[in-house]
Amino acid sequence: MTASEPVYLDYAATTPVDPAVAEAMGRCLSGSDGTGNASSVTHVFGRRAAQRIERARGEVAALIGAAPGEIVFTSGATESNNLAVLGAARANAHRGRHVVSSRIEHKAVLDPVKRLEKEGFATTLVAPDRSGRVDAQAVAAALRPDTVLVSIMLVNNEIGVIQDIAAIGELCRARGVLFHSDAAQAAGKLPVDVRSLALDFMSVTAHKLHGPQGVGALYVRSGARPSLQPIVFGGGQERGLRPGTLPTHQIVGFGVACDLARRSLPAEHARLGALRERLWRGLAAIGGVHANGEGVPCVPGILNASFEGVEGESLVTGLPELALSTGSACNSASAEPSYVLRALGRDTQLAQSSLRLSFGRFSLPEHIDVAVEAIRREVTRLRALSPASEPAEGGPGEVVGEAGGRGREAWVRLRLSVEDGTVKRALFKAYGCPHTVAVTAWVAERLRGRGRADLAPGTPAEWAETLAVPVEKLGRLLVVEDALADCARHWPEPG
Ligand SMILES: *Cc1c(COP(=O)(O)O)cnc(C)c1O
Repeated sequence: MTASEPVYLDYAATTPVDPAVAEAMGRCLSGSDGTGNASSVTHVFGRRAAQRIERARGEVAALIGAAPGEIVFTSGATESNNLAVLGAARANAHRGRHVVSSRIEHKAVLDPVKRLEKEGFATTLVAPDRSGRVDAQAVAAALRPDTVLVSIMLVNNEIGVIQDIAAIGELCRARGVLFHSDAAQAAGKLPVDVRSLALDFMSVTAHKLHGPQGVGALYVRSGARPSLQPIVFGGGQERGLRPGTLPTHQIVGFGVACDLARRSLPAEHARLGALRERLWRGLAAIGGVHANGEGVPCVPGILNASFEGVEGESLVTGLPELALSTGSACNSASAEPSYVLRALGRDTQLAQSSLRLSFGRFSLPEHIDVAVEAIRREVTRLRALSPASEPAEGGPGEVVGEAGGRGREAWVRLRLSVEDGTVKRALFKAYGCPHTVAVTAWVAERLRGRGRADLAPGTPAEWAETLAVPVEKLGRLLVVEDALADCARHWPEPG
């Protein structure tokens, strides 16, 4: 962080590359050191690359208690998850065609699971409890005689909740079912020892532990190798499970990052725990703040909180000094606010009022204090504008119309001052995805001078075109039209 840059609080999205990692990678890319395909065993360049890769393989293995031969390098956790889910299900399709996972997995697990349905597999997604834990008994109940694979993440990327994969692994093993865990948010943050877990496959990625983006690994328990088939085909590298020339510099960086994480883990875990405490104390003091995933074990570096009466996207927009994520995934391809928070039973509004603050190695107490102060300021400001603190009924000469709300993706309230049958002033409040909020603002600005009969400045399709709202989001704008219609219904009688 420099003076002009925001405080980085998005470690769950990606972590800053450690300088020692960058230096090791730089050395691999310079001069004759940058040459050599690890498969070229006939000359010194190839053998040197291979040696470096094997050293890194040992470092990655050591972080999670695996044997080096159980590490398969991939392009990251997305690919590792795809390899485990698709590769294990397909390799075992002759034994059964049922797969179990959870509703709060990363898309990199949910999407390959969905893909399996197209291939004739049945799937069961277990719901978490309200705290975000996936109960081992619920997983047990989902198992069928034809279940071949269970995939449950170790740490959730949105709320930081740690799942009891020891118990889930035990029950899978007892039933002869393969078990995979996405540990992208866990490796390097928690002590993870695959030897003490009944695990067959585990995904990790370098860029969540201060390594480079674009490299990761799948742990494949030595006995589980025959239960996995590749998803890409080529030159036979990684014992045929993941062919392709190994990216030496990426893997070297990954190895150094794992080594650093392993050494610093106990001290960092305690230090980050204290930062999380400091952050939560500060946020809780604002009032009307709910921690998502509280009361259950969480990683210290993620805190997800919902703020009553505040819309998450507006909150983030008002916090230019912080780099963080909302809990909402509306701006991505997905239409849901946050399927993870919804799965916890949060209503749409609270799910859309959430921030994910994630921090790590380079985070300091003063960064946390800056964040708390900025969030306090913005939440206070937005609550003052929020209809939660004003009457739902209009005063004299006022028309209030609203639409959407609980269970809907958006909520809009318009407050119009009407004189002589026309709008003199329009205020609004909107929750929802940024498109809904933007369109409501645009419409509100155009209501002045309009009367009851011609209140709507155009149609949702026209608003969408003017404001470049993607076609698939058009349906969300209907709530703005509904709020206008509600205003018309409440129009004051003349006289
Ligand atoms: C980041 C993340 C992924 C995706 O990892 P990539 O290396 O970016 O593909 C998968 N699962 C979880 C839980 C993550 O946090």
